[in-house]
Amino acid sequence: GTRRVTPVFTRAPKFGDKLAILDSSGGHSYRDLYDSSLGLARRLLEQLGCTSGDVQGRRISFLCANDASYVVAQWAAWMCGGVAVPLYRKHPPSELEYIITDSQSSLLLAGDPYAGTLGPLAEKLGLPCLELPPSSGLAELKTAETHADLPIADWADRPAMIVYTSGTTGRPKAVLSSHRNLQAMIQCLVSEWGWSGDDVILHTLPLHHVHGIINKLLCPLWAGATCRMLPDFQPQKVWEVLLSASPPRVTVFMAVPTIYSKLIQHYEQHFATPHVRDFVRAICAEKIRLMVSGSAALPQPVLQRWEEITGHTLLERYGMTEIGMALSNPLRGARIPGAVGKPLPGVEVRIVMPTTTDTIIAEGDCRKTQVRPGMDKKEGELLVRGPSVFKEYWNRPQETREAFTADGWFKTGDTAVYRDGLYWIMGRTSVDIIKSGGYKISALEVERHLLAHPDITGKESGMAVPLVNRQNQNWKCASHPLVSLRCGCYWGARRHLGPKSDSCGAVEAREEPHSGGA
Ligand code: ATP
Ligand code: MG
Repeated sequence: GTRRVTPVFTRAPKFGDKLAILDSSGGHSYRDLYDSSLGLARRLLEQLGCTSGDVQGRRISFLCANDASYVVAQWAAWMCGGVAVPLYRKHPPSELEYIITDSQSSLLLAGDPYAGTLGPLAEKLGLPCLELPPSSGLAELKTAETHADLPIADWADRPAMIVYTSGTTGRPKAVLSSHRNLQAMIQCLVSEWGWSGDDVILHTLPLHHVHGIINKLLCPLWAGATCRMLPDFQPQKVWEVLLSASPPRVTVFMAVPTIYSKLIQHYEQHFATPHVRDFVRAICAEKIRLMVSGSAALPQPVLQRWEEITGHTLLERYGMTEIGMALSNPLRGARIPGAVGKPLPGVEVRIVMPTTTDTIIAEGDCRKTQVRPGMDKKEGELLVRGPSVFKEYWNRPQETREAFTADGWFKTGDTAVYRDGLYWIMGRTSVDIIKSGGYKISALEVERHLLAHPDITGKESGMAVPLVNRQNQNWKCASHPLVSLRCGCYWGARRHLGPKSDSCGAVEAREEPHSGGA
C-alpha cells in the first residue's frame, strides 16, 4: 500500500507521560523511552562515525533483558537508520556469534548485565560494543538537544529488523523486514484485537521472535497502552500479576501453548481450594478482556482446561516470522477449537497443491474465501501475500527466490485446509523429513529415539522434554548417529505430527517453554 509509514517510536511523543513500560525497576513513560532512545541514537552515530544518512541499514545487534532497555536499544537502532538485530540471553556464545556474523552487524549493544557476555565476542570479532545502563538508569542517556532533528523521514521501505526463525526445519533463517512490514503486522492486530490506550499487557515471552516483539510489545506501544514486563517466565509470578489488584491491572495476556500448560499445572498444584478457584475465575473473567495463544497448535485439552479455569476461550491465531500474523480467530464471535480463523485485514491467502503451487484449492482474504469446485476440504500448502510479507532472507538471494512462487506469493511451508468457513493448520510440508548433514531422517524415527532416551523425562505427564543437553548445545542421540538436533527441530516434528496422529501423545513439549517463535 501507499499508506504512510510511521514507526512506533514516532508516535511515542504524543503519548507523553503515559506509562509505557512497567518493569522491575519501575515505570517508564513514553517520553522517557523516546528521549533515552534519541540520546542513545546519537551515541550510536558517534560510535559508528556516521551522520544519520549514511548508517544506511547497518545492522546493530543488541542483547538486553526483558525490560525498558530493550525498547530503548531497538528504537535507537531505528532512529539512526539502522537495522535492529535482537539477540537472546539464553543463546550460547556460539549461537550469538553466528547471528552477529551472519547478520554482518557493525556494532553491538550490551544491556545490563550482558556486557560480560558480549564483550569477549566483540573483541574476538573486532566490533565496537556499547554498554547500556540498567533499566533504572536509562535517563542517563538523555541529551539536552531538542527532538527537531530526528534524522529520517521516509521509513517505508527502509529495512528495520532481522529476526531469526525458530529453526524448526533447519538452521534459523534471517528474516529481514522493513518498517512498512512491521507497521502492517502491528496495525492489523491493533484493529482486529481491539487494542486501546487503556490496555495493560503482561509480557513474559523472549524478545527475539515476532510473538514477543510485535504482538506483545510493539502492538501495545503503538496503541499507547502499558506493557508490564517480567524478566522471564515463572508460572507463579505470572499468576500473581494476572490476579493482582494493584494498578496497572492486566487486561490482555498472550502466550504459547506450553506456557498455558505450565500455568495450568501450577494451578492444579497450588490453587486447590474452591474459594481460591472461584477467585481466579472471577478475576480472569471480569478483569481480563483477551487471552491469545499461538506459535504452535493449541492442544484441545489445554484450551478446554483453560476455559474451565478462567472462563476465557483462548483466541488462537497463526503466524510466522516472515509474515507476522496471518490468520486469526475473532475478537468477538465464536472461536472454534482447532481452527485458526480467517485472514487478518490486508492478508491474502491461498491453499494450493503442494507440488504444483499453481493449482489453487482455495483463495481468500478477510472478507471472503472461494473454494475451487470439486476441491472442497482438500489439504494443500498455504501461501500468503500482503504488506506484512518480509523483504528477504538476509544475504540469501537464492533462498529468498525459492520461498516465493513465480507470481509473488510467499510459500509458508505449512499445510492448511479450508472447511466450515474457517482455516485449519494441518502441519508442515517438510517436517516429516528432517535433513541432517545431508541425510533425510523421518520425524517419527526421531521421536522413537527421543522417547527411548534416558535423559528425556516427564513422558508420563506429557510435559518436560529437554531438547538440548546441559550445555545448551545440539542434542546428540547416542543410539542413532544421524540424529543431531538443534533445539526446535523436535518441537517442529511434534507439531507436524500433533494434529494428525495420537500415537505420539506421550510427549507434549520441551522442558523449557517453547520460547515464542511466531
Ligand atoms: P524455521 O522456519 O526455522 O523452520 P519456524 O517456522 O518454526 O522455524 P517461526 O517463524 O518462529 O519458525 O514459526 C512459524 C511456524 O509456527 C509456522 O510456520 C507454523 O508452523 C507454526 N505456527 C504458528 N502458529 C501456529 C498455530 N496456531 N497452529 C499451528 N502452527 C502454528
Ligand atoms: Mg518457518
